[in-house]
Amino acid sequence: MSSNDQQHSTPPTWSSPEIQQAFHNYWQTPEYRKAANQQNFFDDWTMSELQWTYNPPEPWYSIFYECPMMGLEEFNDGIIHSIFRRSNWITDLPKMDMAYEAMRPALRVATEFLMHDEFMDWWVHVRFAELTDYSRKTYLENRSKKAGPEAKQQVKEELQAFADKVRFTWSTPAPPQGALAFHCPTIPILAWHIGDRKLAEGYANRYHQNPYIRSTIFLDMGWYHRILADGPTVNQNLRCQMHLATTLLHELGHAWYSQWQTERVEPFAYVSDLVPEMGFSLEIALFGALLEGADARMTSLLPLVSKRIEDRWPVPVDIFTLVPMTWVQQWFQKRTWQDIPTLRANGALRLANTNDRTASVLRVIFDSQVGTLLRKWDFESYAQDSQENSASGLSVAERYKNEWFRDAKKAFQVNALPDRYYKPTEFAQHFRSYVPPPWALTANKTDEDLPQFSIRDKN
Ligand SMILES: [Zn+2]
Repeated sequence: MSSNDQQHSTPPTWSSPEIQQAFHNYWQTPEYRKAANQQNFFDDWTMSELQWTYNPPEPWYSIFYECPMMGLEEFNDGIIHSIFRRSNWITDLPKMDMAYEAMRPALRVATEFLMHDEFMDWWVHVRFAELTDYSRKTYLENRSKKAGPEAKQQVKEELQAFADKVRFTWSTPAPPQGALAFHCPTIPILAWHIGDRKLAEGYANRYHQNPYIRSTIFLDMGWYHRILADGPTVNQNLRCQMHLATTLLHELGHAWYSQWQTERVEPFAYVSDLVPEMGFSLEIALFGALLEGADARMTSLLPLVSKRIEDRWPVPVDIFTLVPMTWVQQWFQKRTWQDIPTLRANGALRLANTNDRTASVLRVIFDSQVGTLLRKWDFESYAQDSQENSASGLSVAERYKNEWFRDAKKAFQVNALPDRYYKPTEFAQHFRSYVPPPWALTANKTDEDLPQFSIRDKN
């Protein structure tokens, strides 16, 4: 250990020979080469699975699929934030220059979010707030009350300088837990992820804190293939670009936290946040909900969807609100960014969520003939639902949660419900009042892998 300490007496950088060599080795691994060369990345599980849902079943549903789009070229002509400059992408992928151009709309949207006064609050908060611990909830509190124009200007300048502390690369195998990207805050952790454990241990415990933070953001290789794929419509492409932009911002949220805060385990960003996760906190701050794709991973053939934190944890429930294409398109139009305060005041920028009366649901059902779980859009009118819900005091989300759990139970009884729908997830402990359905409790008792989760811990 001491010899390693002496050996690595200065902090490594991305261009250090040993890190370059580690990347080179990573790029030669069979898994990486396979993913990099996979021509039909999405064929196996996307196109065939989604064929029958591809066309909107009702004409009025086209607002979530296809709408005329204008002004994209004008928007694309704008600047790209230094953070996303081409030289910040560490890659050996042969078509990276093409991919970089192809993802320009996503980089432009992410750029605007990183440069606009109206969206600076979260970055300012995480930059200046201090860790506190009141009544067992550890969160960031802005005691200095820095939030005005000067603070925003300072943070905008620091975000420009942050470009020197961030890089992007590609991950394979896919990021853990179904994520579409992940973040390594330091070079030692980067070395660990690209398979050089010895190198990682040589630096371990020495350079994990400021000012040695060097954030590397890994994107799922699927993004690369998807962004280069032939055939998507303009609107499918915009959905993918918006999803990618959100993913980049989400990971930058983690990176920004690492840069300015020293506690390695992320706290709640705001006392009002439901889970201690910087990326989700940022998404909620920007959009008011989480933005995801309805279809498998990052393909965006289906509409984008909006979910509340409560629809994701403590167990994921497939309830969401479809995102209209006009909401997606607005971010790719120059005039939107010239008029953010007005649009924001009008509520046009807010992502409708499952508490709103326009909720849609993706219901889990069991098909006895096929013998597998199928997903089915619920295209019913909600007019009557709304009246019933008003009368019973149930929100749309709560009403559909009940239905979802009924369907899930049926699927569970024939052993066709994926684990993730009834096993409490990593943030379960933060939902102390949650009571799992009885059938899921029965399952829990027989499952040794289940995370620690006590239903008695509710008040
Ligand atoms: Zn995250």
